[in-house]
Amino acid sequence: MAKIVIVGAGVVGLGAALLLCRDGHEVAVLERDAGAPPLRADEIWGAWERKGVSQFRLPHFFLARYGRLLDAELPEVKKALVAAGTVCLNPVLNAPEALKGPAREEDGVFGCISGRRCVVEAAVASVAGRAPRLEIRRGTAVAGLITGPSAGGGVPHVAGVRLGTGEEITADLVVDMTGRRSPLPRWLAAIGARPPHDELDDCGFIYYGRHFRSAGGGIPPALGGLLMHLGTISALTLPADNGTWSVTLVTSAKDRALRVLHDPVVWEKAVRSLPLVAHWLDGQPIDDRVMAMAGIEDRHRNLVVGGAPVATGVVAVGDAWACSNPTVGRGASIGMLQAVLLRDTIAGIGLDDPWQFACSFHHATAEIVEPWYRDTLAADRHRLAEIDALIEGKEYRPADPGWEVSQALTAAALKDPDCLRGFVKVAMVLSREADVLAGPGMLEKVTALGGDWRDEPIPAPSREELLSTVADG
Ligand SMILES: Cc1cc2nc3c(=O)[nH]c(=O)nc-3n(C[C@H](O)[C@H](O)[C@H](O)COP(=O)(O)OP(=O)(O)OC[C@H]3O[C@@H](n4cnc5c(N)ncnc54)[C@H](O)[C@@H]3O)c2cc1C
Repeated sequence: MAKIVIVGAGVVGLGAALLLCRDGHEVAVLERDAGAPPLRADEIWGAWERKGVSQFRLPHFFLARYGRLLDAELPEVKKALVAAGTVCLNPVLNAPEALKGPAREEDGVFGCISGRRCVVEAAVASVAGRAPRLEIRRGTAVAGLITGPSAGGGVPHVAGVRLGTGEEITADLVVDMTGRRSPLPRWLAAIGARPPHDELDDCGFIYYGRHFRSAGGGIPPALGGLLMHLGTISALTLPADNGTWSVTLVTSAKDRALRVLHDPVVWEKAVRSLPLVAHWLDGQPIDDRVMAMAGIEDRHRNLVVGGAPVATGVVAVGDAWACSNPTVGRGASIGMLQAVLLRDTIAGIGLDDPWQFACSFHHATAEIVEPWYRDTLAADRHRLAEIDALIEGKEYRPADPGWEVSQALTAAALKDPDCLRGFVKVAMVLSREADVLAGPGMLEKVTALGGDWRDEPIPAPSREELLSTVADG
């Protein structure tokens, strides 16, 4: 059994820690932010300081893949989430009878967890706080890596971490789970490692979100999907825990005319102008302003470059490995998928040969996890280009049949039970689109039912009407 240091106690970092200690490893989680989560959901929202996670109070939703992984691997976390007031929501079972058709055996897989990010993280932390062989040290900033004898090729071998206080903690494996702004390249440079291969770009979207609470504990009915692309804006309406929910408008970062959406009065007017979304304002706002987030990066990091690890004894998992546009809510699902892979790679080949371990984990991640990241990126690039075209008053017609069929699947999902389930499988990170479309007769059905998606009316004001609404703000 190994001694493993995880740097970062975020929502995925804690999940990974639980998986590893359940396998018998001694796990230390080192977290820079000092505050431990309060016990009650309303205190968690108001009082838990988490400067280390910029998106801590921005809308989150935990997709079916995350729920499935918890059911299979960490059922006690699922129990804690229910006890904390999160809601299990099933987009197929909750669809109108006429659309979903008779219930199917597979329908249970679509269960998602709706809860505010901070409430979900606190529930994971409560289980982690009681786990054997798992120590969580909060208020403990890691400042760099320490090295031991090279495991091969003159490549530095990481043998632990150095804290900001100068204290050193040794480990058989250091797992960087410091999130989107991971300082790993700097730490690697300081031990003489070659730089990792980073792909980095602004994801290109801006978020303007607010949370609400109902007086009676209910949640507004969904009149459309959780995520709706409505011309040059997208609307996210996410049920959360304990009678709360969030409403978010997502725009292109290039869309300067809509930057006024950070003003609560303008934001509210814009939301009210959307017929399928306006009723989500019927509650008490629980944040005092519109929470805006821009400059969100798409970033992917490879620690194996040119066939050789840049260092052994260290891996990056969760957002520290890769992060992308969060509109589609995939971060926790993809992160936990990779955390399970980490646990399995350690169980499969062990850590005795650090070089082999680094290469195996890299290859397994590239094969099993990375495709989800690439799919997300490809869809984002199209959506941004579509917004750009619509702002210029043009129709978006890329020469990419993949995008056409993707739009057709979205339209067909509102017309047919098989297409609904296929669409939800992709959205929930359960199946990739190509696999759904490869099902018997699916491509033909999607094309027949959704091929005319361009003719469907968009349930939202035109660009001109939207601009006039926000200009009057
Ligand atoms: C606006 C927005 C909305 C999102 N919505 C969703 C959603 O709906 N669903 C979803 O699944 N995902 C969503 N995501 C993504 C999700 O938030 C991330 O995937 C998730 O937080 C990743 O968890 P993590 O544990 O890898 O990292 P994080 O949660 O970012 O945690 C990193 C931790 O590392 C700590 N740390 C950093 N540096 C150090 C150091 N030097 N020493 C010690 N500790 C350190 C930080 O304090 C922090 O606690 C969203 C992201 C954004 C930006």
